[in-house]
Amino acid sequence: MNLRVAGRTPLFCANWKMNLSVDASVALASQIDVALRKTMLPFEVVLAPSFVSLQPVFQVLKGGPIALAAQTCASSIRGAYTGEVSVEDLQKIGCQYVIVGHSERRRYLGDTNQDVNQKLLLTLAHGMSPILCIGETENYAQSPSFLSNRSEKELEFMLLESLLKIESAWLEKIVIAYEPVFAIGTGVAATPAYAQSVHLFIRNCLKKHFGQVADRLRIVYGGSVTSAHVGRFLECPDIDGALIGGASLVAESFLDIVRYHKEKE
Ligand code: PEP
Repeated sequence: MNLRVAGRTPLFCANWKMNLSVDASVALASQIDVALRKTMLPFEVVLAPSFVSLQPVFQVLKGGPIALAAQTCASSIRGAYTGEVSVEDLQKIGCQYVIVGHSERRRYLGDTNQDVNQKLLLTLAHGMSPILCIGETENYAQSPSFLSNRSEKELEFMLLESLLKIESAWLEKIVIAYEPVFAIGTGVAATPAYAQSVHLFIRNCLKKHFGQVADRLRIVYGGSVTSAHVGRFLECPDIDGALIGGASLVAESFLDIVRYHKEKE
């Protein structure tokens, strides 16, 4: 698959979770911004700081090539939902992306596929792009590059429930992040061959339900990505970038990952 024909610009998203203070987020965003601002990027870079850091980080990124993402959003627009943050406000303060369905939110904070679907619909309705995270909860693979039936079923169910009421025309605005739970924060990434087989499976599922537009949707890999092996993922035809947690917390290690990118032919 020729990426330029398919129009899939590679995307690298840093998910800082709750790891950094506001000051540390601003400092890290400034380092990354300074390094990338003057270059024409053949890929997209997105930073996802905590809610309270979004506004100050936006001030750093303003006018440059790096986009801002929220790590989640409320599943309603307004109302008595203590502690929640509305997509309306996220859009107003400069977010272009919202991560929805991250496994940590599903696991520790009770986000269901129905919540994720609501968040995704609201994000799209407010002109932002959802980064929809899906991933099997256990490593069912018998061998490192074999996708088991059990994983396929779990992934397809998660994908289709999260994408209920989505029209084909909106699909291109969505980014899917394939993040196997066993690879997140463990230091042990899935093998590139395994990730490629899952990405292809996801793309084929989407083709079945939404048609050829699935060729234009970006599917990024997440789970212990580092600069040491990111190139092997990017060489796979259906891997269109990465969602990066731990390795995005230090400017040089994140920059080494995004700079590794070579345009795929
Ligand atoms: C993540 O939490 O989305 C993630 C990919 O984390 P890590 O890179 O640390 O595995």
